[in-house]
Amino acid sequence: MSSPLDCQFLGGGNEVGNVAMLLEYNRRRFLFDYGMAPGKPPSFPLPPPPVDLTLLSHGHLDHTGMIPWLCAQSDQTINATMVTGELSNLLQKDSIKIALMDGYSIPYSSNDIREAEHCLIPVEPGTRREIGQDTELLFHSSGHIPGGLMFELRGDKTVLFTGDFNVVDTHLVKGTSPVKCDVLFMEGTYAGRDHVNRPEMERAFVEKINEVVNRGGVAIVPAFALARSQEILIALKDQGLNVWFDGMGRKISKIFLQYPRYLRSPKDLKKAMKEVNLVHSDHGRKLALKADVIVTSSGMMDGGPILSYMMKLKNDKKSAVLLTGYQVEGTNSRLLIEKGKMAFYGVVETVDCEVEYFDFSAHAGHTQLVNFAKGCKPDKIVLFHSDNREPLVESLKDTAEVLTPMNGEAFQL
Ligand SMILES: [Zn+2]
Ligand SMILES: [Zn+2]
Repeated sequence: MSSPLDCQFLGGGNEVGNVAMLLEYNRRRFLFDYGMAPGKPPSFPLPPPPVDLTLLSHGHLDHTGMIPWLCAQSDQTINATMVTGELSNLLQKDSIKIALMDGYSIPYSSNDIREAEHCLIPVEPGTRREIGQDTELLFHSSGHIPGGLMFELRGDKTVLFTGDFNVVDTHLVKGTSPVKCDVLFMEGTYAGRDHVNRPEMERAFVEKINEVVNRGGVAIVPAFALARSQEILIALKDQGLNVWFDGMGRKISKIFLQYPRYLRSPKDLKKAMKEVNLVHSDHGRKLALKADVIVTSSGMMDGGPILSYMMKLKNDKKSAVLLTGYQVEGTNSRLLIEKGKMAFYGVVETVDCEVEYFDFSAHAGHTQLVNFAKGCKPDKIVLFHSDNREPLVESLKDTAEVLTPMNGEAFQL
């Protein structure tokens, strides 16, 4: 008889954001991710008890945003890939800046971010390490963004924690595959929603840009700096378009290219970066207005260079905003797609540009989640990273026992 596993989501159970999960396994305490929700105001997971090992799935802030705070409280040992370490570092620094601009604060300093670097013990996908006599920890690529990991614990039960994952190949990373396990912790961002066919969507995206350019407009593509903007630049490579690139995504591209082993094709990203014009100054921003396409952050249009471009182009009916990410409620991109309006530094104004959405998601869609879960052959499935888990419960209830714990709720497996 194996002993039960004690588990608790400190955040990220019934929400997208704030991911932090505690698991007691073979008498050791593991913490999976320690993120934040970078909203207005930002929110944070519950504080954890002392843990033996922290595992970081990937660089997005909703999984890594509060690591510097955690390391400032007490010494930590953290396993993640090198690139995840660097990317989270950059995003954490940026989150302090953004919060200050918005009049909020983040409970750590740049110094804490630097100190936290010493807690990282880098690991590689496709490898394993032993933890004591009775536990093995295996690292699998998650197919979500470069350097992203899924974690498998092997002892008297096998446990898989997916983090964010994707099963189809994107330009940046190859999709992942199911891992046999007894207990599956699976993200459910896209519960109830399926993606459109990716190559078809990309063709429609390029066609739309050509249409905008032919009528004399500019296509503005707001994109998350980490992974989404690079994915789009590769999709636009070799299309004969004049593409300009602005925002923190430039720095992130450089980091990706420093760790080519995490990329599906470093050659493609290098080539895409060579083809684009980088914006470094206000003068560059003026020149970019004559481009065919401007790819820039922030993805949800609440800050960053996108605002200055939109100030100039908002009344140009020939131009178009092509959204490429999920529009969280309360953000400018949601306001734009629903009402054709945007807030510029506190003032809401009408936008006359055409607005369209293209699904460049890096998460598995509903049917892909279901097939992945079935492929893992688990007895129990715990769903997290979702504000709408019911459709998945419905689809998986004949496959395994499905749990949907709330944040803060302690449960056993
Ligand atoms: Zn993510
Ligand atoms: Zn996430």
